[in-house]
Amino acid sequence: MEKKVNLYRGDKPRIYIIDVTNRDGVQSYKMHLANIEKAVINHLLDEMGIYQSEFGFPAHQEYEYKSPMNTHFERQNISGNLDLQKVGYLPSIILEGWVRAIADDVEKSHKRYKDLKHLNLSVSTSDIMIREKLRKSEKEIIDGMTYAVKRANELGFEKIGVNAEDASRTRHFGDQSYLEEFALAAKEAGADRFRYCDTLGYDTTFSIRERVRRLAEKVKMPIELHCHNDLGSAVANSVEGALGALDADVDAYINTTINTYGERAGNADLVTVLLALKFSSGLSEMDILDPRINLKMAWRICTYTSDVTGRPIPPNQPGVGDNAFSHESGIHADGQLKNPKNYELYGPEDLGIPPKEERELGRRISIGEFSGRHGIEHILNSNNLTVRNIDEAVDLLTRSVYSKQDEVYDLDELKLIAEYPDQVRLML
Ligand SMILES: [Zn+2]
Repeated sequence: MEKKVNLYRGDKPRIYIIDVTNRDGVQSYKMHLANIEKAVINHLLDEMGIYQSEFGFPAHQEYEYKSPMNTHFERQNISGNLDLQKVGYLPSIILEGWVRAIADDVEKSHKRYKDLKHLNLSVSTSDIMIREKLRKSEKEIIDGMTYAVKRANELGFEKIGVNAEDASRTRHFGDQSYLEEFALAAKEAGADRFRYCDTLGYDTTFSIRERVRRLAEKVKMPIELHCHNDLGSAVANSVEGALGALDADVDAYINTTINTYGERAGNADLVTVLLALKFSSGLSEMDILDPRINLKMAWRICTYTSDVTGRPIPPNQPGVGDNAFSHESGIHADGQLKNPKNYELYGPEDLGIPPKEERELGRRISIGEFSGRHGIEHILNSNNLTVRNIDEAVDLLTRSVYSKQDEVYDLDELKLIAEYPDQVRLML
């Protein structure tokens, strides 16, 4: 039986953000995030008003062997974050897990994590990937996906997204449209949303808007846009694809990553997508962005994530790069001084960027594995943090050093350890 799908959540179709930093972002070459860092990222996304975080792989492989060095294990990440949601650290954001569109992954996720209520089920839909990667028939792909979606419904998952990997290279238009057939089957099986993945960054702004509009008109369900940046168009394609969904009167959900992290050339950058939706020609007046979004969190979330990944923000990154508000040429500088609006669509205050002299003061705190009880006690006191038991806090801090790339703590990490020791212990 077909489930009732809400075409839009609010008073009219809007664009919501699903951040995938903790899933797709960490798939960047040589990138690693410790579990407490992922939790802080979820927390900052929540404060920023982001709708949903794709926070991991609930059907991950299990390992028998556990060592202090293996603190990035996925079980700790998933259960720790779900628990943090229960105790109020992540009050609004939806936590959703990524699985393959097979019943076994859905069943595993349910069995392991009773509190996990949101899943995205993913499978490739392009000819080349069906033939050369999955080695199956188109019918087998649809059968496997629909069975998995039905299982997810039977097991009580609240929101089920179905992802078409490589959607942009999937047969789409005309009588033989495989993408439409696939999406309709997903909806009939009980999916709530459809994720259009431009996995190789192959679309143009024109092609994606047209394809998504036609798909949404036919299928009548909200569409997610998941765009990669191989041809440099991830942000533009995400925005145009989302407008295509709005053209068809359904909600759009743009997938982003912080600082454009992600496989190869990365995903659509979170802050740039928000800037485009707020300040682009024609869009600023349209009022189509999720009203809960707080762009003033941009600076904080980008600098935190850059710190913990050890990847500097490029100077020319929109909004938060060092040069975003620097004017070199005489004519530009003169114009900017007379009125910033001559050369700026938005100001540093829109992104919550503090004056240079106030940046980083007291933010970064070094705690090594040999810091000792007194040193740690002093650091906690001087940052006005109280803990329920100092020995426990010392234990958690020194052990979490192993999972981080360095011994430098951010104030939000110390707060997390001080206020939620039980959940932090779960994550180590
Ligand atoms: Zn991706």
